[in-house]
Amino acid sequence: DSVFSHIVHAPEDPILGVTVAYNKDQSPVKLNLGVGAYRTEEGKPLVLNVVRKAERLLVDDNSRVKEYLPITGLADFNKLSAKLIFGANSPAVSENRVVTVQCLSGTGSLKVGASFLGRHYHQKIIYIPLPTWGNHPKVFTIAGLSVKSYRYYNPSTRGLDFQGLLEDLGNAPNGSIVLLHACAHNPTGVDPTPHQWDQIRQLMRAKALLPFFDSAYQGFASGSLDADADAVRKFVADGGECLAAQSYAKNMGLYGERVGALSIVCKSADVAPRVESQLKLVIRPMYSSPPIHGASIVATILKNEEMYREWTVELKAMADRIIRMRQQLFYALKDKGTPGDWSHIVKQIGMFTFTGLNSKQVEFMAKEYHIYMTSDGRISMAGLSSKTVPHLTEAIHAAVS
Ligand code: PMP
Repeated sequence: DSVFSHIVHAPEDPILGVTVAYNKDQSPVKLNLGVGAYRTEEGKPLVLNVVRKAERLLVDDNSRVKEYLPITGLADFNKLSAKLIFGANSPAVSENRVVTVQCLSGTGSLKVGASFLGRHYHQKIIYIPLPTWGNHPKVFTIAGLSVKSYRYYNPSTRGLDFQGLLEDLGNAPNGSIVLLHACAHNPTGVDPTPHQWDQIRQLMRAKALLPFFDSAYQGFASGSLDADADAVRKFVADGGECLAAQSYAKNMGLYGERVGALSIVCKSADVAPRVESQLKLVIRPMYSSPPIHGASIVATILKNEEMYREWTVELKAMADRIIRMRQQLFYALKDKGTPGDWSHIVKQIGMFTFTGLNSKQVEFMAKEYHIYMTSDGRISMAGLSSKTVPHLTEAIHAAVS
């Protein structure tokens, strides 16, 4: 008998499970709106031209070897990543108060930050928005933090529950960690306004709450790298401390290359090297050092002015296509006279629309229309095209009528 025979089968990941169901469906009109990855108008994955160009340069450079990177990753990549999120002229960066380590995409960056806080931060409570990306509670719980949530989304307005958010953070124990989505909140697509961010920042600083930004969509939300980093930069500009986990999965289309960075902004330059030394102790037993290829692609693009510009153009094209899909779906529902107010489709931002469809309606759409999404009614706008908007419109109309 197997020594593992007592092991029970774990449940499917709820997001990846959508694709499993989609793959089983034999219908020619089937549509997968569950995946959190960009697709072209033809429904195909996209590798950016500038990424292909960087890869060719790397392959042709015979001086490049396959030696291990340091524990903290590629130094150039770390410096450029900090500048990308905090701004080219960030005083925190130039004052050497920022520690940045290369990690395994956004998830790995969150994980390293969580483990560091679990070991060294005095307050072991972290507040995450309700709802949030499904992996957040798991990553923070494993790091030994106690996970609580703060109100974020109001289903009746399909917008921000700002009052609830302020109340819950106002009642949080002093020093608690607060997870904030830097932009394009997943799964709701609802972000605070600049004025609301200011109020959140003031409340958090008054209570010494520690901000931990998850930045998985910089540039991918609005099409502007600067605009999407605005909230993070506001928190850094007040001189206080914060953490930021960056991912290049969406904005550079490097999903499977697993490229990301964790930055910790410290109050003073004398703390930063000590923080870095402890981050190394977190990383070393986890995976020793990060992979070299993806970080080299990013560094190549970020340090070359021409390639950087090319990237911003391709990035904006992806963001624009998603925004266009929002408009097309909204007007299609409006033209059809589908019952309900669908303006949240164009108000929300980023890869996802939180449609407001309930799990019964989601089930109905899979069964009758072969359209797949997560059971909370979240659809990936990136999985939609001009050709598939009419089919989705039919299905939504039937589901709510
Ligand atoms: N945070 C959020 C909010 C996300 O949506 C994602 C991607 N789905 C991630 C982090 C991490 O993604 P990755 O590890 O692929 O960078």
